[in-house]
Amino acid sequence: MTGRIHSFESFGTVDGPGIRFVVFLQGCPLRCLYCHNPDTWGHGGQEYTADEVFVRALKYRNYFGDKGGVTVTGGEPLLQIDFVIELFKLLKSKGVHTCVDTSGITFRGSDAECVKKHEALAEVTDLFLLDIKHIDEDACKKLTGHSNRNTLDFAKFLSENGKKMWIRQVLVPGYTDSEDSLQRTRAFLDTLDTVEKVEVLPYHTLGVVKYEKLGLEYPFKDVEAPTKENVLKAKRILRGEGEV
Ligand code: SF4
Repeated sequence: MTGRIHSFESFGTVDGPGIRFVVFLQGCPLRCLYCHNPDTWGHGGQEYTADEVFVRALKYRNYFGDKGGVTVTGGEPLLQIDFVIELFKLLKSKGVHTCVDTSGITFRGSDAECVKKHEALAEVTDLFLLDIKHIDEDACKKLTGHSNRNTLDFAKFLSENGKKMWIRQVLVPGYTDSEDSLQRTRAFLDTLDTVEKVEVLPYHTLGVVKYEKLGLEYPFKDVEAPTKENVLKAKRILRGEGEV
């Protein structure tokens, strides 16, 4: 089994707990207006077998310590779910902590085969980083080109199956930072049993240069990063830390 890989990061510290070997998989069905990895969207990348990635990741095992391990991200890693399952089975056979960073877009709760596949993934995944792009379906479509239904269904699936998750929300001024939508996101999180952490990721413009290289227009040229106060406020709301 081979997977198409965009790149590797040997000492990742922002995609899951501890120090991690991070595998960026190629391909994504979403088109988030703020995406800072547009170079993962298309069909590029390089093919590797699961075994090759496994061997490469294991070289860093001594750095993982108690908390670290391997994270797959992208792009949308679950477009290549069979590859991820095979890789994670290998890693779990050596006791390595496994983590998936996903939007949950591939999960179709009404498709039994699809659910089965995600169950097989859940069996070999220790932690899910689940990106909730927007709690409102229409706003989510405007922001990403897709509904949020699969994402929210996947969150429920993970909760029902006792799988730990960290929720991630990119905070974009004027798009995802209204108090009302943050409160409704929090109300949704209150229906879940296995959320360990909520991460607010402030929107930034570091990906602009990639758009220029790809000859693409950057959709958020006029959007500025959120202020520190707004980030703190969003964190308090999303983490359910009382009045704001
Ligand atoms: S899901 Fe991630 S990689 Fe895909 S478009 Fe959105 S931000 Fe970019």
